[in-house]
Amino acid sequence: MTLRPSAFSAHGHWFRGNLHTHSTFSDGKCTPAEVVHFYRQQGYAFVAFTDHLIVADAAGLSSQDFLVIPGVEIHHNDLRGSTYHVVGIGGALPAGERMPAAGDLTADAAVLRALGALVFAAHPYWSGQTSAELLDVPAMMGIEIYNGTADVGYHKGFSLQTWDELLTAGRRVWGLAVDDAHWLPWRMDAGLGWVMVRAQELTEPAILQALARGDFYSSTGPVIEDVWVEEGQVCVGCSPAVAVYAVGDRWHCSAAKAANAQGITHVCLPLWPEQSYVRVEVVDRLGRTAWSNPVFLT
Ligand SMILES: [Zn+2]
Ligand SMILES: [Zn+2]
Repeated sequence: MTLRPSAFSAHGHWFRGNLHTHSTFSDGKCTPAEVVHFYRQQGYAFVAFTDHLIVADAAGLSSQDFLVIPGVEIHHNDLRGSTYHVVGIGGALPAGERMPAAGDLTADAAVLRALGALVFAAHPYWSGQTSAELLDVPAMMGIEIYNGTADVGYHKGFSLQTWDELLTAGRRVWGLAVDDAHWLPWRMDAGLGWVMVRAQELTEPAILQALARGDFYSSTGPVIEDVWVEEGQVCVGCSPAVAVYAVGDRWHCSAAKAANAQGITHVCLPLWPEQSYVRVEVVDRLGRTAWSNPVFLT
């Protein structure tokens, strides 16, 4: 039997987007119009504005071929208590209004979810958040596994161990690559990490529903064309790669390395019978990575 996640089997198109961006509504140095101009020029189809504690009023910048999604980043920094940044996008977030933090991640995530937003944890590694702190946040659909500004600015951009710990514990969350762009003159932090969403059309409901279903992959460069599970293997079609990894719970992982300069564009890797999930990582010759969402096997 072949198991192909809907990201790679659903009818629709691929839409590239950035889900975490700041603007002059908070500490970003570009206006919303400048932000939209940048992402349009880079070939993106959508962007979510996620300013600190305020919902940027930027919906008027949407057009037929470019979607602006409202959002917010709620944060609370208390080194002796709870430190977190949480992002909500879409739904009925109040445009132009401030959204103060409650001081509790679970409570803030619930407020965002109650407004119909999709909720994910921002840069857990940079925040110093453990998987244990994220395990019991029911409203959370995903975590940032790559955050561009935390990578180039602080060398703490990747939160893959946190993701695997959550998945191994049975918490089904998706992994998101984002920019968290601030547009500072001394740090280029835009165009670094994105999601490729498989959706029927470029509308906010279609993009948000696809994200909620996990119908996307994340990338800092490579393309994942196909992923499927068949006869005890996970198979991958991708842009030329120097390495392809199948990552699961605990030690259930395997790797394929390119044997020649053409790289790998198709490979199947073995699975273990007791493995609970598998996700795929594709690495290109520049060290850039694409991450599929997990396929649950049990
Ligand atoms: Zn943040
Ligand atoms: Zn941010």
